Amino acid sequence: MNNATKILDALESQYHNEQYPPELGHSEPLDGLILTVLSQNTNDYNRDRAYANLKAKFPEWKDVAEAGESKLEDAIRTAGLAPTKAVRIITILNRIHSDFGEYSIKALANHDREFMREYLRALPGVGAKTVACTLLFDFKIPAFPVDTHIARISRRTGIAPEKSSPEEISHLLEEIVPEKRFLGGHVNMIEHGRAVCHSQNPACRFCVLSEICKYFCL
Ligand code: SF4
Repeated sequence: MNNATKILDALESQYHNEQYPPELGHSEPLDGLILTVLSQNTNDYNRDRAYANLKAKFPEWKDVAEAGESKLEDAIRTAGLAPTKAVRIITILNRIHSDFGEYSIKALANHDREFMREYLRALPGVGAKTVACTLLFDFKIPAFPVDTHIARISRRTGIAPEKSSPEEISHLLEEIVPEKRFLGGHVNMIEHGRAVCHSQNPACRFCVLSEICKYFCL
């Protein structure tokens, strides 16, 4: 058993054990993709407010594409970086409509995972984490998205080398963790980063990983 597996076991004993939040995932994967674009450089609360406002004003993606950048900017302002995100979202919607003939990326599921990764990664403002989130949550295809919490825990516990990037850590986790544990591992590591393994002053004395973590400090 590798260290990553032991860590995921310990986190499962503390947090979710295959009972993950039901709201994860969208029947139209494009919804998840745009939500993740909105989430960049902001918190979940502001992302969700922006997304709810966007959907209230423009129920269909066609409406967003036709509204133009300035109206979209107003709708998503609470997510921050509104001008940048508005340009990205409109460009993504136009490209998807041009490639698939509709505002949907469901047809991507007809391709293999690497094609899907490359297609999504080539969209503006879509990085490795966004691609992995869309694959995992919306297409239900194995991928291990790595955010700041997962990167920190992976480095501190010794799963990943200290200087590895989130994208490198994602590749590493996808190699050493069984695919069926990607979703649970992702959810539980984020929860642990928020609750215990803080970036400043981690609560090591109360940590379920204290016996296997290289960083443990009193
Ligand atoms: S022992 Fe400390 S540094 Fe290691 S995972 Fe737990 S809280 Fe984080």
